[in-house]
Amino acid sequence: MEKIYRTPPYKFCPFCKGNLTQEDPFRQKCIECGFVMYHNSSPCAGAVPVDENNRILLAKRGIEPFKGGWNIIGGFLEYGENPMDGLKREVKEETGVECKVTGLICMYADTYGKNGPALINMCFTVQLLSDNVQPLDDVTELKWFELNSLPDNIPFESDLKALNQLKKTIHEREPA
Ligand SMILES: [Zn+2]
Repeated sequence: MEKIYRTPPYKFCPFCKGNLTQEDPFRQKCIECGFVMYHNSSPCAGAVPVDENNRILLAKRGIEPFKGGWNIIGGFLEYGENPMDGLKREVKEETGVECKVTGLICMYADTYGKNGPALINMCFTVQLLSDNVQPLDDVTELKWFELNSLPDNIPFESDLKALNQLKKTIHEREPA
């Protein structure tokens, strides 16, 4: 299924209130001050904690979109934030514990909710530095899953792609 990306055609320049022209679908320009507004995907960092038995920790969403669905721990990077710093910040915010980044899984385009704004989800495996996780922030539950018995309700396509990629990677790593 092809996603519909909602590009935001803004009317006015955020600096001088001049009219914005549409240069192309992803770029608008102010006719007064020349400010160019680019419509870019928002970068997100996702963290998949993996334990010694190759189980993974997922978070149940407490907010819309997809409230009640299971997703990879993470969120939007802050403006100018280093992706690795954002990843560790999100893990701390949602689980209460520190982590060590152990590898890149993949990066995929997605949208924040059905037909929502475009994002890029960068997913990494992490090792938690404490077992004492608790659901915090926008998370209502944290649960360890076997990669072969994931929950049905994983609404973000980029999460599903990342978990499938991780399955393949871990499978290839295991001795035959
Ligand atoms: Zn302007």
